[in-house]
Amino acid sequence: MKIIRSVAQMQKMMMRRAGKSLGFVPTMGALHAGHLSLIRRARTENDLVAVSIFVNPAQFGPREDYQRYPRPFAQDARLCRAAGVDYFFAPAAADMYPDGYATYTEVTHLSNVLCGASRPGHFRGVATVVAKLLNITAPDRAYLGIKDYQQVHIISRMVRDLNMPVKIVACPTVREPSGLALSSRNQFLSAEQKAGSAVIARALHHCRDLILSKKQRKSREIIQCMKRMITSIPGAKIDYVAVVDCQTLDPITVVGSVAAIVCAVRVGTTRLIDNIVVRSAVSR
Ligand code: AMP
Repeated sequence: MKIIRSVAQMQKMMMRRAGKSLGFVPTMGALHAGHLSLIRRARTENDLVAVSIFVNPAQFGPREDYQRYPRPFAQDARLCRAAGVDYFFAPAAADMYPDGYATYTEVTHLSNVLCGASRPGHFRGVATVVAKLLNITAPDRAYLGIKDYQQVHIISRMVRDLNMPVKIVACPTVREPSGLALSSRNQFLSAEQKAGSAVIARALHHCRDLILSKKQRKSREIIQCMKRMITSIPGAKIDYVAVVDCQTLDPITVVGSVAAIVCAVRVGTTRLIDNIVVRSAVSR
């Protein structure tokens, strides 16, 4: 596995692939089994695999956790090597955003709702860094987690709108046995908070079952039910719970054949997000 720190060197290397297909997994590091599932999928579908580790300052707000975000570099490199990664790209912030940097990518509409409403500028930062990373690596496929539901939509939209020649592969959420979605930020949770946070996934599954068993289809009731369950977590503060259209992410009032329940919850100082897609058999 080659460890590459320089943007220029990575770009040069990626241009000399001799026709070999490349799967790319962009991450902020502190790798866990969720990231590794993306890497495994990339490994099976491509000749070469590149992983980027970059805690992107452009996607953090001034009062967010950029400084304290975990950066276990040696462990990440070890995990990638063991997973058969070919290129481990870990650029410095000053190399990605040199003095005078002035260009940003913004996917309008999709970026200002849900997580974007409470994290202004977040998705502009995400779209910008992913656009840059795709330009640097020029992959055939890029692997993203559905756990970051809005992010997958935004990046897919960006790639379509800007005619970027890459296929976005959306991968399922990997969870703890308790149901809690794996996240690099889970390590900030105390044991008690972690146990309590499992309620988020339980609430999502419970509400999905309510919809599928036709006991409830009204979004307002589903959101109430989610909120009731989530507020039982000690120290939990709900950012949002929404039932949305799977394409537009617009809120829907009555669930038809397919919808997504999405939520963000602050537990102590840690912000957790999760979602579930509900697809009724009726639609098929
Ligand atoms: P991050 O390092 O948090 O920016 O995540 C990098 C990529 O890993 C993103 O595409 C995430 O959606 C994906 N990811 C994060 N957590 C999970 C998970 N629990 N299961 C699957 N993919 C995940």
